[in-house]
Amino acid sequence: MIKRSFFALSNPGLTCDLLEPDPEAPQKIDVPGLLTLLLPEPLDGTRNRRIRKGDPVLKGQKLLLYDDSTEYAVSPVSGTIKSIDTFTADDVSRLCTRITIEKNTQTSDQIEYPDMETELPFAARHLNQLPGAPPFTRLARTRVPVTTLIIMAADTDLVTTTAQYMGTVHAEALQKGAQLLQQITKVPKVYLVLPDMLHDRVRFDNLTLLPTRSNYPETLPAMIMKNHLEKILPAGTTPEEMGICFIRAEAAVSLARAFDTQAPVFEKCITLVDKNGVRHRIEAVIGTPLSRIFTQLGIRINELDRIVIGGPMQGFATFTPHHPVTPDMDTVLVQDRSQIPSLPDKTCVNCGKCIQICPADVPVNLLIRFLDSGQYEAAADECDLESCIDCGLCAYVCTAQIPLCQYIRLGKHELSKLRIDA
Ligand code: SF4
Ligand code: SF4
Repeated sequence: MIKRSFFALSNPGLTCDLLEPDPEAPQKIDVPGLLTLLLPEPLDGTRNRRIRKGDPVLKGQKLLLYDDSTEYAVSPVSGTIKSIDTFTADDVSRLCTRITIEKNTQTSDQIEYPDMETELPFAARHLNQLPGAPPFTRLARTRVPVTTLIIMAADTDLVTTTAQYMGTVHAEALQKGAQLLQQITKVPKVYLVLPDMLHDRVRFDNLTLLPTRSNYPETLPAMIMKNHLEKILPAGTTPEEMGICFIRAEAAVSLARAFDTQAPVFEKCITLVDKNGVRHRIEAVIGTPLSRIFTQLGIRINELDRIVIGGPMQGFATFTPHHPVTPDMDTVLVQDRSQIPSLPDKTCVNCGKCIQICPADVPVNLLIRFLDSGQYEAAADECDLESCIDCGLCAYVCTAQIPLCQYIRLGKHELSKLRIDA
């Protein structure tokens, strides 16, 4: 465990943490009696559901809401569905269905898994919920063929080392996973993003390394595209729409494990930083409530403490300590209420710091005026709302402590809703 206070950072010369020289294996969290899965499809009360409260489920069973659903969750245990309800995700962009499953302690039966295929439709139907959240469903929907695959063994926020750990300690599985990914996506070449300081720790034979320095935000996808591929991500587009797929090292490792065992994988690696700045590496089954992890680690959550899912620059606070572990959850931060700065209702003082630090050249001080008054389309047209790469640096340096990232994320979400409605 490494003690490091991420709240003590004081200037924008931010560096990402490097994996320690002899990383310890993650502490395993016991599988709880009640697990919660978040399915990224909202409930529709007018339609006939395939699954209901009281239904038995088997370990490895796919849970789909409706006959034509393409989104699904996979049950990590055999048991019974205790409840199905709507869950408002904390990052405002996801409306989910929450499925709670009570584990059956009498049986370890599991569903018979189909023979593994290295085809994208198969991967989208069966492997999308592996730890590391490989984006197979998204890729299957994208019309642009993938031409470049980039595996991320560098972390995309401060204080976390999950990607570095999975990419270096499990290098052999990662290489096998990279080959499988190449077969599934049919890309000619696979790149691996690895911090340059780790290059002498591990050898990769069939992957082209893209070295990154530890300066934040060099490891964000838009920055990697710019610095290594000389491609600028146009405003409002995703890398996939340009034929570039970023995938977590853990997803590649999980894929190799799934093919090796011919069974789904549920164990997610997470970096958890507690109230004292102590970093824990843990392994928990997808669906485990965070509260279960806190109990096992002896972390007491008091009223008004803050739980952040994600790193300090891009994470979002969750309103419930029972938020479950999800396939894409790399980092959890716990902040004591005494460490949380009160956010006074200040207005912009036009100091210009946000503009100076923004790597995407967004005129942030002007942008928030449009967002503040609900002019989302004008924010996109006049102030490059969609060029923002969500690095969080503007909020970090803001003299007036304006929660700029929340404004910007909400603005993007409202803009996408406006466009869907148009
Ligand atoms: S989060 Fe702020 S600093 Fe970062 S790209 Fe977006 S506007 Fe610029
Ligand atoms: S950093 Fe904050 S106070 Fe300064 S110009 Fe930007 S939004 Fe305004």
